[in-house]
Order: sequence, then C-alpha cells, then structure tokens
Amino acid sequence: MNSLKRSSSRAFLGAGGAVALGLVILTPGLSRTPDAGLLEPLQAETTEQVAVEVLGYGETFGGVLSRALIPNADQQALILAFQEHASPSRLRVGTEITLRYRRGEADVRAIEVVVSPDELLRLERGDFGWRSSKLETPVWMDTMFVHGEITRDLWSAVVLNPDLEEMPRGDRAQVIDLMDRVFQWQLDFSRQIQSGDSYRLVFERQVRPDGSMRSGRIVAAEIVNRGRPLHAIWFDLHDDGVGGYYDLEGESLRRAFLKAPLEFRRISSRFNMNRFHPILNTRRPHIGVDYAAATGTPVMATSDGVVTIRGVQGGYGNLVEIRHSNGYVTRYAHLNGFASGVRAGSRVSQGQVIGYVGMTGLATGPHLHYELHQNGRPVDPLSVDIPSGDPIPAEFMPRWNVEADVRFALLNQAAQGPQFQMARAEVGGGELADGRAGVDGVGRVDTDAPSEDGAL
Ligand SMILES: [Zn+2]
Repeated sequence: MNSLKRSSSRAFLGAGGAVALGLVILTPGLSRTPDAGLLEPLQAETTEQVAVEVLGYGETFGGVLSRALIPNADQQALILAFQEHASPSRLRVGTEITLRYRRGEADVRAIEVVVSPDELLRLERGDFGWRSSKLETPVWMDTMFVHGEITRDLWSAVVLNPDLEEMPRGDRAQVIDLMDRVFQWQLDFSRQIQSGDSYRLVFERQVRPDGSMRSGRIVAAEIVNRGRPLHAIWFDLHDDGVGGYYDLEGESLRRAFLKAPLEFRRISSRFNMNRFHPILNTRRPHIGVDYAAATGTPVMATSDGVVTIRGVQGGYGNLVEIRHSNGYVTRYAHLNGFASGVRAGSRVSQGQVIGYVGMTGLATGPHLHYELHQNGRPVDPLSVDIPSGDPIPAEFMPRWNVEADVRFALLNQAAQGPQFQMARAEVGGGELADGRAGVDGVGRVDTDAPSEDGAL
C-alpha cells in the first residue's frame, strides 16, 4: 500500500519535472535545469473512451441507445434534447452515433450525431440534465488556378487531363458543367470548340475536412475560341450571394432565356417545319426541340414566368406551360412528373426545376420536347435572337471596376506556371456556411441516354 502511494507520487513529480523542462526552454533566465534523462517516459493515457454505433436499417435513435445500454431515463431526455435541433426519426441508415465516456465510468458523458454532411449534433450531460448544440463542420476554401490548350474538346482538356490529377476528377467535371452554363449563350461547347482553342480559369470551392466539396464557383474564366477571347467574371451585384457573370466591359453574359432547359443536353431532333413523324408516319412540322435524356433528369424553366398549364395534355403527356414577359411562352412535354410546388398560377424563376424527363404522351423514348412561342407563334429556340440580361448599373461600376481587376489578375496568375495550382485558406464553419452559390442543384445525366425521336 505504502509503496503504491510512493510510486504514484513519484510519477506525479516526474510529470512536474517534464513541465518544468518546457518552461526552462522557453525562459532561459532559469538556472536550475532538472535532469530530464532520469525521468521515466510517461504513457499518456487518454481520459476518454469512445464507442461508435451505426444506425441500422429500420432502427431508431432510441434503438441505438438501448443497444448501447443507455438507461431508459437518459434515453427519454436525450431524445428530447435531440429534438431541439433536429428530428431523430429522420436520421438516415448508416448515420454514425459517437458515444463518449470518461475512462472508468459507466455513464455516457456525451453523444455526437452527424445529422448532415455539414452538421454535427452534440448532446452533453450537464448539471441539470442533457443539453444539445448543433455545430457546423469546419470548411476550407480552395482557390484553383487552371489553364491549358484544347486539342479535342473541353471535356478531354480538363476532365481527362492527367496533368490536372491533383484536382479531384468530380470537381473537374463540375467545372466543365459550370463553364458550359456560364458561356452557354456565347459558345456551344459541343459544336464550336476546336483544336488550338485555350482556356484559363479560377475556381473556388469550399471543402469539408474529408476533402469533399460543399460548394464551388467559377470566379473568372477565359476561353479563346478561334482566336477570339471570351471572358466571364463573377460579380455579386447586391452582395447577397446570388451573383452573375459579366464580360470585361460589364455586360451580362446572361440572357432572358436559358439556351436549354436541361443540363448535359443532347439534341435528338431540331425545330423542323417539314419533318416525317416517327409514330404518325406523316409529314408534320416539329415545332420544338427534343432533348434526349434519361428518365428523371431535372427540367428547368428557361426564364422567369407564371405557370399556365401543369397536367396531362393529349400527345404532350405531362406538360408544363409557362407564360413569360414580352409575349413569350414555353412548353415542356412528356414529363415523368412535376417538381413539388409547381402548379397552375405559381411563379417560377429561370433555372428552377419544374419537372423531370419522361416519355408520357406520344413518345417513343424518354426525352424532353421543348417549345418557345413568341406572340402566339412557335419559334426555334436555338436560332431566335434572345434579349440580353442587364449590364452592371452605373452606380455599381466603381465596385465592379475594382473587383473585376482583381479577378482578371487572378486569371493572369492562373496562366503562369503549371497547369494546375491551388491556394488554401481556412474559413471555418461560420459565415460561409450557407453555400448558396455554385454547384448546388447540378444534376448528373447519363450522356449515353437513348436518342429516340419524339412524337411531338
Ligand atoms: Zn418533340
């Protein structure tokens, strides 16, 4: 007994000596240095034990607590504390639940639940029961500088480029999608890009600790197409996170209508006033454009407007019709289903998902039939002259000039040195946590979707 006590007190002294040594190093004025060589190395034993449980199929949060032998009284209190921030019944299968214990104690001290990729719910035992808090996972901000020459197309120049392997391949694909969206009115990537064209771009992304991207945005981009440089500079006019792209003169790259109501578009049948109809076996004008896409591909409103039809409409199948300003009307046909909240009379904005590709009505395969009407007459959406978006208003020009200079300088920086460079800054989970801009809502579509010609 006595020797045990002595031994533990010596261990304590030893630790004190180690601390004193640290002090000596930092404060050279001290003259007495303990002989560190005689100290036994102390095994730092953690004060905490951790158990990780995973929510199984059909299991509840309470079920996991029972499995972890948490007493009933605690279970009730834990569920109540949980409900202050989130619904425990909405946890997904596979959710990790971390239980923390003080070493040698049987009662759980804290529980952490990853409620979404960006949020952690922490339940802690306090003096007066359980209290809960929701924490946002920290993020980094990466700025990526990329440049290169195009020998075939932009996809192979960026996504398949081995020199860009440091940039995650999924991010590279996102960058191409964003580039396509930004330059959609200036350049048709699938038809106009040619060998000898070049690109440079600056891309910002928020990264979670596990390296996955929370959101991303092109800050500045340039494509030189047949010797003609095209620029896109991001600018947040109202400082509300909803920015847009402008050329170097401050003219908006945006048009009143999206060029197409789908991402990853592949045209299977063009506007044609004298087309042979595949189902009806007669010549009949095709007054729209067909986009081959997999069933379920999101369909976007091409411009702001009010929904006038939402429902089954003969050969169109499930149809959405939208009335826009200046006498324009658009139609989206053969839909598999409608996006929630879209009904006759509802207001929709450009880019908002209104439904999903299908093959209802007269259709031989899944595709979107898209029509644009102007003053009651069908027009070819691919050739009609669409009015442009507003340039930067005069009162915003001073701020634009400053920010555009900075972003253009970043582009020049991108073009120097290796094809890919990256800068990283810690931004925490705080003010940038909303992640509104960028890649949210970009849907993936199988580009090998069937190319069935539509009925309408
Ligand atoms: Zn059609």
